[in-house]
Amino acid sequence: MKNIAVIGAGTMGNGIAHVFAQNGYAVNLIDISEDALNKALSTIEKNLDRQVKKEIISEDDKSNTLGKINTVTDLAQGVKDSDLVVEAATENMDLKLKIFRDMDANTKADCILATNTSSISITKIASVTDRPDKVIGMHFMNPVPVMKLVEVIRGYATSDQVTQDIMSLSRGLKKVPVEVNDYPGFVANRILMPMINEAIYTLWEGVAGVEEIDTVMKLGMGHPMGPLYLADFIGLDVCLAILEVMHDGFKNPKYAPCPLLVNMVTAGKRGMKSGEGFYNYANGPKNAVVSAQFLK
Ligand code: NAD
Repeated sequence: MKNIAVIGAGTMGNGIAHVFAQNGYAVNLIDISEDALNKALSTIEKNLDRQVKKEIISEDDKSNTLGKINTVTDLAQGVKDSDLVVEAATENMDLKLKIFRDMDANTKADCILATNTSSISITKIASVTDRPDKVIGMHFMNPVPVMKLVEVIRGYATSDQVTQDIMSLSRGLKKVPVEVNDYPGFVANRILMPMINEAIYTLWEGVAGVEEIDTVMKLGMGHPMGPLYLADFIGLDVCLAILEVMHDGFKNPKYAPCPLLVNMVTAGKRGMKSGEGFYNYANGPKNAVVSAQFLK
């Protein structure tokens, strides 16, 4: 595989494009928004600068990587020569089904279609294409250039060959792939999201404040981030969408999203990316302070 397309240039898409380009692939980064594409390029450049400063890569590596990324707003144009497309657009079922229909119609017959979805069924996404054996989950973790794991999710019809190809391609990206089956939340979010949801319930019920909950989990369990800060980092809208998929998929009330999470997303408090969630980020992620409404 040589030519890669990444669909969606948000939080995850820019990191995925960065990692493929850094490992020598030609990348078409596709988004409907010019703004998102420009922002993605400047984020990639900033992250490459950080790698140069830490002497992980050289100035030449940086310019080679940037030179391998081409930005495109037209999906059909951007995917036509691809050997692999990784979809990382907004976590919304109807949107993903539409993108996969378009990808199926506009790519070469042997192109593998992967999705970075956090929770939507790979089997469902594959069902709207004429190549369900070549549809697979490739779930990178945030921030993509730093995090080692790729959760490789086999849909009901994903072939052994395609699974092996994606496992070995992920190793070539210097990641550690783990193969899992296609059930709501897969493994990562099946375990992470109930913990985040429980932390939000704990806050909502007044058991403890934002900093107290995060401190207990950081110092008590050795987690690098508390669950409420982590929820802000992931995006509260993304957390809500994943919990809804799990709640709907298992029909089990234990996955019901906390009403406080629903209210915050409805009010536009989506965490770090919107400037406020459980914490306020007006002075940047490192200087986050507890949001005014949660102060005791
Ligand atoms: P995001 O909101 O930061 O970015 C989504 C991007 O998709 C936006 O730039 C938007 O303009 C673009 N987009 C929307 N419709 C499009 C279309 N039709 N064609 C092309 N681009 C389109 O979202 P994100 O956090 O990067 O999440 C992307 C995917 O990755 C989701 O499926 C999410 O569940 C998954 N994911 C997110 C995280 C995380 O920590 N944020 C971690 C793992 C996986």
